[in-house]
Amino acid sequence: MSNPVQGVTSNIRVVLVNTSHPGNIGGAARAIKNMGLDRLYLVAPKEFPTPRALWRAAGAADVLERAIVVPTLDEAIAGCGLIVGTSARERSIPWPMLNPRECGERIWQESADHDVALVFGREDRGLTNSELQKCTYHVHIPSNPDYSSLNLAAAVQVLTYEVRMASLSEVPSAVLEDKWDVPPARAEDLELYFEHLEQTLVDIGFHKRDNPRQTMTRLRRLLSRIRPDTVELSILRGVLTGVQNVVWRLQRVQGSGDPSRPAQEPVEAAVKEKTEGKTSA
Ligand code: SAH
Repeated sequence: MSNPVQGVTSNIRVVLVNTSHPGNIGGAARAIKNMGLDRLYLVAPKEFPTPRALWRAAGAADVLERAIVVPTLDEAIAGCGLIVGTSARERSIPWPMLNPRECGERIWQESADHDVALVFGREDRGLTNSELQKCTYHVHIPSNPDYSSLNLAAAVQVLTYEVRMASLSEVPSAVLEDKWDVPPARAEDLELYFEHLEQTLVDIGFHKRDNPRQTMTRLRRLLSRIRPDTVELSILRGVLTGVQNVVWRLQRVQGSGDPSRPAQEPVEAAVKEKTEGKTSA
């Protein structure tokens, strides 16, 4: 049996963030290998390498030996065009969601074309909101609502099993979409875009950092829904640069000095006038 989509297992990363218990790292390695995957990324694990992880990994010691340890999630997902974050519970800001089956199908499908990451959180408190906001989609295993949190390695097992099932299926995937001509923007390029976007919104007086209306969170979610490709993202960056140039030119005309603190008038007033009451953030 083989799936009409030829996924590439070596393009699929399982990422564990800040894992406390080495046994869970070993258990996850075993789960991954059982399901035919082998790339494990560990973001700042509390204790690794350690014999306790090796013991739980059993015959999957090779996956542990090749595990890549990095200090931040950004480094673990660098180069990925699809990032799926796992969550044991509902979050305050809804995000584009996949169920575990769709997650397996999408990961398998997209691994044919680019690197993908499946990201798991800490045993005690999962992924932070800011980590979840770096993800294209979220996936929740529909467990007992009164006791929804699976053991970390068990959650890895369930979701990698779905990738396995997608790889074995002979039925074309329901989530299969027409191939796009340009690859999706990579995680690191999206991060640069969001930094640039936030700075520009501050420059034009539209947004203040730490604003309670969660403007940046909502803009991140908007981009997650759209999934811009690499060309679209570079056009968006070009627009930001153009806007900043106008702001800085105005500032020079007004003689208001420091180019990193652009003019507040008339750009701020004009933008405010156009957008007053129109933001949903
Ligand atoms: N108390 C934490 C639970 C973390 S469980 C919380 O409320 O978020 C550790 C990790 O296992 C989670 O971060 C997630 O990666 C995974 N996990 C556990 N249960 C899950 C579920 N029902 N659906 C998806 N992932 C789950």
